[in-house]
Amino acid sequence: MPKIIDGKAISAQIKDEVKERVAQLKAQGVTVCLAVIQVGADPASSVYVGNKKKACAYVGIESLSYELAEETTQEELLSLIGELNKKDEVNGILVQLPLPKQIDEDAVIRAIDPKKDVDGFHPQSVGALCIGQPGFVSCTPAGIIELLKRSGVEIAGKECVVIGRSNIVGKPMALLLLRENGTVTVAHSKTKDLKEVTRRADILIVAVGKPKMITKEYVKEGAVVIDVGIHRNENNKLCGDVDYEDAAPICSAITPVPGGVGPMTIAMLMYNCVNSVSLQ
Ligand code: NAD
Repeated sequence: MPKIIDGKAISAQIKDEVKERVAQLKAQGVTVCLAVIQVGADPASSVYVGNKKKACAYVGIESLSYELAEETTQEELLSLIGELNKKDEVNGILVQLPLPKQIDEDAVIRAIDPKKDVDGFHPQSVGALCIGQPGFVSCTPAGIIELLKRSGVEIAGKECVVIGRSNIVGKPMALLLLRENGTVTVAHSKTKDLKEVTRRADILIVAVGKPKMITKEYVKEGAVVIDVGIHRNENNKLCGDVDYEDAAPICSAITPVPGGVGPMTIAMLMYNCVNSVSLQ
């Protein structure tokens, strides 16, 4: 049977490490503060924002909450971001996505000072990652690197295949694996013969956004499989992009859903917040 990579335990470990660093900074008179902006009251977004605030409270990061009305204009949101950019006591700014349709998400992402871009979505953060300079890294892919390293999975020299090329998961994931000296292939919706490509992978990262699409036919015997997907199935139970029951028996290690990649995203957000102090 495969090793089950325990994202709950690893994320708890990271949060405890962050908590210690926050306490050390506090002892030197430095507080860490994250501003969280939510526009509208989308129930899923409210859950995510609530979890982020809870994590801040756990690690000792102060969180400032801005709950704006659904009909907020782009100008109003940009003006709030401008104010927060100027405040020295605010280390990180997070705007919960998606935003209502009257607001251009790209313009909002670009408005955040790259030194406070704890989500790692700003073009400058992405560019820095691309050319190997310091900067914030998107939380989900950064969390996956931690999952691999802390589970003793060697990346250097391995065949790594990423399915998906989104700006928040697939692309930064590929860049991070490359930074760790993996041999990286990115597969996507236009890839011909996906199974042939994915069966080359020693490490297969699945961010395809399709419930249980990846069965054992896509996986090489002994591969490490990381499932980024989150879906609710017909019984309202969580499942991933990988058909876990089918694929797990031939993997050497695999992440479950829930309890794999999911908990890592918030842990890495906390990590980015505490790191923002040294970047500033
Ligand atoms: P997305 O929809 O933006 O991107 C999906 C990618 O998969 C696209 O690049 C597309 O080219 C590719 N794709 C689609 N169909 C394909 C096919 N048949 N064959 C090959 N490639 C195909 O999704 P995303 O934002 O990258 O998220 C992916 C999944 O991860 C979703 O299930 C999402 O809910 C989940 N997610 C989880 C976390 C977390 O914290 N665990 C964070 C972000 C996203």
